[in-house]
Amino acid sequence: MSHVFPRHTKVQPPVAVAGEGCYLIDSTGKRYFDGSGGAAVSCLGHGDPEIIAAVQEQAGKLAFAHTGFFTSEPAEALADKLAALAPGNLDRVYLVSGGSEATEAAIKLARQYHVERGETQRRHVIARKQSYHGNTLGALAAGGNAWRREQFAPLLVDFSHISPCYEYVLRRDDESACDYGQRAAQELEDEILRLGEDSVIAFMAEPVVGATSGAVPAVEGYFERIREICDRYGVLLILDEVMCGMGRTGHLFACNHDGVVPDILCIAKGLGAGYQPIGAMLCTAEIYSTIENGSGFFQHGHTYLGHPVAAAAGLAVLTAIEERNLVGRVRAKGDALDAALREAFGQHPNVGDIRGRGLFRGIELVSDRETKTPFDPSHRLAATIKKAAFAEGLVCYPMSGTRDGRVGDHILLAPPFIIEDAQ
Ligand code: PLP
Repeated sequence: MSHVFPRHTKVQPPVAVAGEGCYLIDSTGKRYFDGSGGAAVSCLGHGDPEIIAAVQEQAGKLAFAHTGFFTSEPAEALADKLAALAPGNLDRVYLVSGGSEATEAAIKLARQYHVERGETQRRHVIARKQSYHGNTLGALAAGGNAWRREQFAPLLVDFSHISPCYEYVLRRDDESACDYGQRAAQELEDEILRLGEDSVIAFMAEPVVGATSGAVPAVEGYFERIREICDRYGVLLILDEVMCGMGRTGHLFACNHDGVVPDILCIAKGLGAGYQPIGAMLCTAEIYSTIENGSGFFQHGHTYLGHPVAAAAGLAVLTAIEERNLVGRVRAKGDALDAALREAFGQHPNVGDIRGRGLFRGIELVSDRETKTPFDPSHRLAATIKKAAFAEGLVCYPMSGTRDGRVGDHILLAPPFIIEDAQ
């Protein structure tokens, strides 16, 4: 009997023993193509010698030094590099251990920023339905996925949720994409006014929605309008690029596509590429200086903040992405993947939409293409596909998402950036 508490208690998963490039290998020798990088994590594939060497070297030199007392060389170097590459003046970097820690820190920093400026009346955070920002209680409260929230609802702070920008489902036939984007963004202003125009702390969104919707980018103009609305009401814009950042969409940061700079940006998964658990929250110089010139202390923290070995892995991954021109490669391979998916499934009667950016692609499954009707949840379609694909040696990320109260199925693909056309 295993003593591990697994995700699914009724299934005994195979034991993964090795990773080679785009493949994972289990203890029976079976090879699995990692078509989703786990959950958009393994952007460099498995067994990358440069990243392994960086981790080993740092572990040998200094494995841990608490940030209550010290900073460390890899944390400083990674923060410098991220700040140099990030858009706008996002020049302070708070290094954490994963995505939920980054989004939780972002929410708390946003509130503390307003408190330090004397705007203590700001107490609401607005996010979107059908979003995922992590599994800790604050991040879960921000997320809008009904299924993930349901049983924990009594423990969740009351955040507001507006509609996502989800063209396939929510654009009306009589509307252009651009008009739809403006209408979707208008919901933010309406919600701010409903809550009280000086009572909102922040708006939080994923530039390309991952786990809950299957790689849904916003339509052109949506985020520009969102930025304007946030600025008008002094609401901070938090973009959650935990899944879609770090080159995944064909730009180092997904918000580069939308031409907006957030006040706070969260990244994780691809930053450590699975070689170490690491995430980061970047904030503007203005937010940082408000704290610096105010209390001088961000009232938040975890033991493993700025972990030296994790930071060394992040630095090596970022260096590899730059030096191997992997963002350019993501664009080329992403176009090839999109074309291959359209050729294979474009006419399939149960494929409603194929979408995404770079090597972040989603396929939405419907029981009827004309009406875009989702499958009945009792089919457990996503779970069935996951199981069947896994048996064939393919790891992909099918999910049942909530779609305006109904469940819709999609498959998320996020293969390593080193994928070859034939794969
Ligand atoms: N935010 C987004 C957009 C995510 O996709 C995820 C994880 O899937 C998280 C936050 C939470 O990250 P983690 O699982 O590392 O805590």
